[in-house]
Amino acid sequence: MSTITYKCPSCAAPLTYDGRSQQMTCGSCGNTFDVDTVREVARIEQEDQQHEDMHWDARDEAFSPQEAARTRLFSCSSCGAELFTDETTVATNCAFCGSPSVIPAQFTLETKPQEIIPFLIQKDQAEKMFHDYFKNRKLIPNLFLTSRNVIDEIRQLYVPYWLFDCDADARMTYRGTTVTTHRSGNYRVTTTSHFLIRRAGTLSFRKLPVDASSRLENKITESIEPFNIAQSIAFTPETLSGAQANRADVDAETCQTRANERVKSSTLDAFRQTVRGYASVIPQSASINLVGASSMPVLYPIWHITTKKGGNAYTFAINGQTGELTCNIPWSKAKFVGRLLGMAGIAAAIGLGVVYALSAMGVIK
Ligand SMILES: [Zn+2]
Ligand SMILES: [Zn+2]
Repeated sequence: MSTITYKCPSCAAPLTYDGRSQQMTCGSCGNTFDVDTVREVARIEQEDQQHEDMHWDARDEAFSPQEAARTRLFSCSSCGAELFTDETTVATNCAFCGSPSVIPAQFTLETKPQEIIPFLIQKDQAEKMFHDYFKNRKLIPNLFLTSRNVIDEIRQLYVPYWLFDCDADARMTYRGTTVTTHRSGNYRVTTTSHFLIRRAGTLSFRKLPVDASSRLENKITESIEPFNIAQSIAFTPETLSGAQANRADVDAETCQTRANERVKSSTLDAFRQTVRGYASVIPQSASINLVGASSMPVLYPIWHITTKKGGNAYTFAINGQTGELTCNIPWSKAKFVGRLLGMAGIAAAIGLGVVYALSAMGVIK
């Protein structure tokens, strides 16, 4: 014999059946429910807690022998980066650390990029963007304003990404309440109504990028996104000419986990936005099934610039397609606070929160 324990629709405590009233009673919150309502709630919850499927088909093709013959792979004996380029490009320095100790490596490129976005920003433009960065920047540390900023290294680099496509079929349930109050003689009567709220729908994700290089910090690559995917072309070894590409060293599975997190949080947010007009809302269940989920490896262009100041090395990254720039030069907190002191106290308090949050992230545009 199996027993089903029905849970209270308003507080989730176990319900007991009261033979006299023929209703289910909650010992915790004191509510009573008719049996049909309780059964229906249990049925809906079971339906919504069905299996979740977040599986991706990865387009993981290897280089053909012909393509491999036109591709050169090498590794940096200084930082360990694995890089590749076409057969005509001579790699003299590592695109990451600038070290000249690049040595040819055995060809082991399992994953072939499917598409590549060519560089639209040329080297001289990237250099100008670097120098322009320091103009009218009152909040950067004085160190960068009192003497000329010199590019230590500028390198043309393709960064590996996985692009994810899917439709997320989702079902969610929430518990919600509305509260009304009215006066009755000497009493004030508060009525709380409990709702089981259901949502079902599909959200489409197209070309969701996930950085597949562990060598560049994610916060740097995320700061220079997005790339305009419409300008992608099919990858051949020749498209790398003059530049170096980093081998994808974060496997597809790890990237899929990150893609799932992004799909999940976007879907939860989008569905939650549709539940309005309640005094309280508690998410009850959520299940997401991915339909047509596929992923594809691609290469995106960045200019990687390093500059040395006061014994430290700073990194600039410029999106090689859009010119979006990011760097890890910290704001001068002292200068920022100094400026705010002249303003209203409340504004300063908010601004301070912002600047500390930004500097905690380390990347400030
Ligand atoms: Zn209850
Ligand atoms: Zn290196």
